Formats: sequence, structure tokens, C-alpha cells
Amino acid sequence: MRGVRAAGGGRVYLIGAGPGDPELLTLKAARRLAEADVVLLDALVDRGVLAHARAGAAVVDVGKRGGCRSTPQAFIERLMVRLARSGRVVARVKGGDPFVFGRGGEEALALARAGVEFEVVSGLSAGIAAPARAGIPLTHRGVSDGLTLVTAHTHDGREPDWPALARTRTTLVVFMGVTAVERIVAGLLAGGMPDATPAAAIERATWPDERVVRAPLAGFAAAVRRARLASPALLVFGEAAGLGIACPRSVSDRLQAA
Ligand code: SAH
Repeated sequence: MRGVRAAGGGRVYLIGAGPGDPELLTLKAARRLAEADVVLLDALVDRGVLAHARAGAAVVDVGKRGGCRSTPQAFIERLMVRLARSGRVVARVKGGDPFVFGRGGEEALALARAGVEFEVVSGLSAGIAAPARAGIPLTHRGVSDGLTLVTAHTHDGREPDWPALARTRTTLVVFMGVTAVERIVAGLLAGGMPDATPAAAIERATWPDERVVRAPLAGFAAAVRRARLASPALLVFGEAAGLGIACPRSVSDRLQAA
């Protein structure tokens, strides 16, 4: 942890790294990473982002990897406070956007309570980027009145009210929904969402091994299981999910060749 430290005292940058592809990192995130003495990396963050860190920066994996248990949240918060108080510049790098289902809010609160200087650096949420990869314009005019982001994995184990969510007339984007897909589909059908409503699942969006599965609502859970989709994946429900706007093959081949 030696090396030239940026001007100013210890502080923490809560950085969103985007959905996966390290090129989707913002310029601000890259600049903040370059200032860091210590980089705390979440599990879903591609290590390619470390290209922006200083050669001498310490890198700590604080996410779930190789079947190990993830680092407890309270420990991460204490670690950040301790490092910043000792004068270190800390880059806490999280997948997507730090304030979208990333527990970034809890970390910001812990830092604020401890009187530690911090900055939130927004990232591109998978909730926005993954549907785009599948050609789904989330708020297509005349098709969807808006966007609902929801997690299937609530902190107290309670299920979201799927039947109520079926009636919002918005595109519904579900985080952490693969294991619960049967219950989600059943709840949406119970809420009156038509059988034929388009649905899509996007696994590992923006990474080279990204996969997309599409099916009408009634057959969606079976399609997701057949494809053996796993985390990280995002589920999208609503008429916009049926658009699947793609670049014409001839054009994309030409662009790839260029
Ligand atoms: N803060 C993150 C979300 C963290 S919760 C964000 O804004 O994107 C983790 C969940 O996000 C995963 O279980 C999955 O549902 C979704 N997710 C994250 N990265 C993804 C990706 N590249 N492709 C598909 N889903 C992804």
C-alpha cells in the first residue's frame, strides 16, 4: 500500500463499474480508480477495470468467488472506514450502479455516520444495459409507459407483489429472479398479465458469453430452465420485451469486419 497518495485525506469512492464489459466503465470511474491506494472489488466486477488502477494499489476481492462465502457487509463497511481514517484513498467498486440493488446506500450511510468523506460515482446499471443488449427499448413510446426495477430477492425473504406488478403497464425488469422464475410467472399471470406477453432473460449481459432467452410469458419459466440460465441474469416482462430490435445482419457483419 505504498506509493504516491493523491492530495487530500483518506476517502472512499463508491464506484459503479457497469454491467460487465470493462469498456462500459465511465471516465470518472476510471479517474477515481487511478487515485486509489486500495481497491475493494465486488464479485460481479470484471477484473479488466483494474487496468485503470495504479500499479502499486492493493486489490481486495470482497465478493463471492470460487464458491467461497461472500465477505460480510458489516466487515466491508468497517474496513472502508478504517482505511479512510488511516488516510487511504479507497475505491469500492461494485457491479452496475452502486445505488441499484448494490447495498451502496448502506455503505454510504455507514461512511456518513463515521464522518468519512465519500463520493458516489454512478455506473450503468445492468437493469438498463442488459435489456438494451437484447434490443429491448425499455420505454418505447406507445408500448410501455415506464420502467419498474424490482428484485426477487428481498432482504426479509418476502416475495414482491407480482400480481400488483402485473398491472403497472410498465416494462418490468427483475433482478436476481432466475431461481424464482416459476413463482414470478405464476404471480404475473394471477395478476392478469396475458399469457402471450413477451418476456426475455439476459444472462451475463455485455460479457462475451452473454445469452438471451425469449418466450411468451406462459412458456417463459420452462424456456429459462431449458437453457439452464444462471446468475447473473435479468428478467424482462412486457410488450417492449417483444421488440428485440436488432441491427440487420448484413450491416452488423460489415461493422464486425471493419
Ligand atoms: N448494482 C447492480 C445490481 C446488483 S444485484 C446493477 O445496477 O446492475 C446483482 C444482480 O444484478 C444479478 O443477480 C442480476 O440480476 C443483475 N446483473 C448484474 N450484472 C448483470 C449482467 N451483466 N447481466 C445480467 N444481469 C446482471
